[in-house]
Amino acid sequence: MTTRSRQWTMFGFLALGALVFITPPAQAADAGGKVCKLAISANDMMRFDQTSMSVAKDCATVEVTLTHTGKFPIQTMGHNWTLVKTADLAAVATDSLTAGLQNDWVKPGDPRVIAHTKVIGGGQTASVSFPLSKLKAGESYSFLCTFPGHSALMKGTFTIG
Ligand code: ZN
Repeated sequence: MTTRSRQWTMFGFLALGALVFITPPAQAADAGGKVCKLAISANDMMRFDQTSMSVAKDCATVEVTLTHTGKFPIQTMGHNWTLVKTADLAAVATDSLTAGLQNDWVKPGDPRVIAHTKVIGGGQTASVSFPLSKLKAGESYSFLCTFPGHSALMKGTFTIG
């Protein structure tokens, strides 16, 4: 190898290094955006602490954290946070009756379920994240707990505004 070719090889490495350095990671373009965090709690009285939730429309990702502030176990007073179209709420609640705790009381693969946390018992916390792009402007959305019998009391509206 001549001195000249060594120099060119060195230049090549430097150029490559600079290129790698200035090229952002491939995921950076779509991994950005505003993450909006919401918190809600549920108790041993079969209640959420909120009957309405809302997120700003410029949120890219919504992260909902559910805290069970009670003491009762998951088998008798389990709760989840499930997001559906308001029009689907009753049917989703009915189908959840036979889904079982192993499926977090959500019918597996149910396309009507936009997002849901796992079912938790007293003292536990669970979170779920979803892109706000899953929701359409002008549609009415609701959240509920799909533990059998709970949605009569455990539900509320979810709005973008
Ligand atoms: Zn519940």
